[in-house]
Amino acid sequence: MMSKKDYYEVLGVNRDASDEEIKKAYRKLAMKHHPDRNPDNPKAEEHFKEAKEAYETLSDGQKRAAYDQYGHAAFDAGGMGGGGFGGAGAAGFDFSDIFGDIFGGGGGRSRSNVHRGADLRYNMEITLEQAARGTETQIRVPTMAECDTCHGSGAKPGTSPTTCSTCGGHGQVRMQQGFFSIQQTCPRCHGSGKQITSPCSDCHGAGRVKQHKTLSVKIPAGVDTDDRIRLSGEGEAGVNGGPAGDLYVVIHLAPHSVFQRDHSDLHCEMPISFSTAALGGEIDIPTLDGSARIKIPAETQSGKTFRLRGKGIKGVRSSTHGDLHCHVVVETPVNLTERQKELLRELEEISGKDTERHSPRAKSWMSKVKEFFGQ
Ligand SMILES: [Zn+2]
Ligand SMILES: [Zn+2]
Repeated sequence: MMSKKDYYEVLGVNRDASDEEIKKAYRKLAMKHHPDRNPDNPKAEEHFKEAKEAYETLSDGQKRAAYDQYGHAAFDAGGMGGGGFGGAGAAGFDFSDIFGDIFGGGGGRSRSNVHRGADLRYNMEITLEQAARGTETQIRVPTMAECDTCHGSGAKPGTSPTTCSTCGGHGQVRMQQGFFSIQQTCPRCHGSGKQITSPCSDCHGAGRVKQHKTLSVKIPAGVDTDDRIRLSGEGEAGVNGGPAGDLYVVIHLAPHSVFQRDHSDLHCEMPISFSTAALGGEIDIPTLDGSARIKIPAETQSGKTFRLRGKGIKGVRSSTHGDLHCHVVVETPVNLTERQKELLRELEEISGKDTERHSPRAKSWMSKVKEFFGQ
């Protein structure tokens, strides 16, 4: 049984996405995963092909309609339909595959009721520090697992399912409707071809039970919000012996009190006092691995940025660390004593006479204002 990702999910668009949105999403993915741009990443080619296939289907109105109604089975010559028509390749499109069921494919077409289990998504919030260094954590996920009592058959231990009396085990029944003989999924056994006379008491005949399991998840250093970690085979159990789905752990970074992350770079605010800004000085600032000392030159203005190379984060697919950008904020002093206020007034009095010399910003601002009023 082929297990394929949903085309809409591959492109990251909604099911009602417009043609334009689909095109845009595909272009973005194709640029990102193009093998020429990712020579050392074999996964990239896989993603690229996946996106291409999804786009080829969803950009064609007819194919998209078929996909919306029948899913991957619409294009799967050798899968659900059980052969008979063949011909079309995996990505090909053949109407007979879609309508084969309705017009009847002949006696040999028994529908297989083996399904791959559903993929699961687990949203995980981690701290910036955990993302930067990587971490290993345990998660508890709800899942449908094979019933231990009946081993997935759904029948009470000691009994076994019998052949469905309505369809004789074919899983399909034929009905006459006008000119056509229409084949339908058997309403009694829902296509399994089997009937459970005494259902298992633990799963009530479903063959699967809801369980919680604890999984260990390795978060690689450098992950960012929306990165997904796939735990192969840890999704829901398959139906009737089908393979299990996958579990996707989707990362979300919690906001940090000091740093804001931008890909592999970090940003932080650095408040400095009015006098340090004017006279210069040294200031200790936090980094992800300890602290660093920054020299503040005299006459530093608010808004100036200091860059600390290599003090950012090393991305998952990157070989170097990003930078830390510290943005200076000159702080207005508060809670001043009478004496301090006196000194400031004195300073203002002395420097006020010579704005041009001491306040470069005010000077350029004044000239812009004058220009604005046409003076
Ligand atoms: Zn059971
Ligand atoms: Zn039946």
